[in-house]
Amino acid sequence: MSEWKQILIENLLFAADIGLICWFLRLYKNKYTTADQIKDLESIDWSAFKSDSSGCIEYGLVEGRVHSLEQPLKSQFTEDEGPIKYFKRVLLKSERNRGYWTDRQNVLSESYEKVKFALQDEKTAERILVTEPRLANYLQEALHTTHDHFEPCTRSLSESLFDRVVGEITKGYQTTEQILKNGTTMLGVGKIVYSNGSLELRKPTAKGTQYFLTSMSKSELITHLKSRATIFKVLAGVFGVTGLLILWVTTGSRIRKWIAQYRERAAVEEARQQLLVIRAVNTVHSRNRNADSDTDLTEDSDSPQRSPSSEANSCVICLINSRDIANRPCGHVCTCLNCYEAMPVPKHCPVCRSAINEIIPIYIP
Ligand SMILES: [Zn+2]
Ligand SMILES: [Zn+2]
Repeated sequence: MSEWKQILIENLLFAADIGLICWFLRLYKNKYTTADQIKDLESIDWSAFKSDSSGCIEYGLVEGRVHSLEQPLKSQFTEDEGPIKYFKRVLLKSERNRGYWTDRQNVLSESYEKVKFALQDEKTAERILVTEPRLANYLQEALHTTHDHFEPCTRSLSESLFDRVVGEITKGYQTTEQILKNGTTMLGVGKIVYSNGSLELRKPTAKGTQYFLTSMSKSELITHLKSRATIFKVLAGVFGVTGLLILWVTTGSRIRKWIAQYRERAAVEEARQQLLVIRAVNTVHSRNRNADSDTDLTEDSDSPQRSPSSEANSCVICLINSRDIANRPCGHVCTCLNCYEAMPVPKHCPVCRSAINEIIPIYIP
């Protein structure tokens, strides 16, 4: 993979991670703030509110029992009835996709019916009309399941085999019915308005406020929101650590590579300077020796054979320059400084493939 492609992927991963952290932090703040807002709300005094107030509470809390204001919706399966009825029938299947079986569901019918309803105060029998209940949070959890039944499909052995070959198995039908039962104790949090002689609970319009209709009590709702907030905080922390790891693995490895390359260049430059000095010194020595040999030939005739053949001395990579460095720790003298410089980092000895930690400039006369 080319380097720019790798950098692009790393940056995309990092950006996605930052995005997730921001999202989880936002959810955390949102849940925590909402829990705090609800903590500060007191149940309204229904009668006092009607007589004294300006007719509107931007964000208030009411408790009461569900009471249908029109003919209640009846369950098809039980005696239960109430103002909201939800029905769903799905076909459950297993499908083979690229060799894997996955469960799927086809919705055959789904309906959501509702009639006008109110929350009724137990003591005073005052009622508050609930508007736009579908926009409220946690209403679904307050519904009572009146029917939840699975009918398996009966298939013969040959039909089952055929299904497996085709890659689609029909498992059966799941039918669910849920009802918001009359008499359910509920907590409503939203905008409370007194208009045309009746109380209404509406979706709040103030910024940062949420609409709730739940069968949880006030303290249960606060605990629930705070536990959700904690989960989002932990997730933000997990993705924060992941981001740091991504940064460490990607940018850290790049920085380590840059440092290694910089050190390598510095070592080569130092070796080059040392070689220049060694060569200069040896040139002077050989000149002096030549001068001496001119004056005293007999002395020189006893000197040992010094120079190996130039072929044996040539760099194993370029085969032209003479070998002028020793690799450490393996000790091989096999390349010239130019070829060493051109080797990719991390550098390895071309003879024994062991890692080269250091080079020592040498001079073979
Ligand atoms: Zn060479
Ligand atoms: Zn070696």
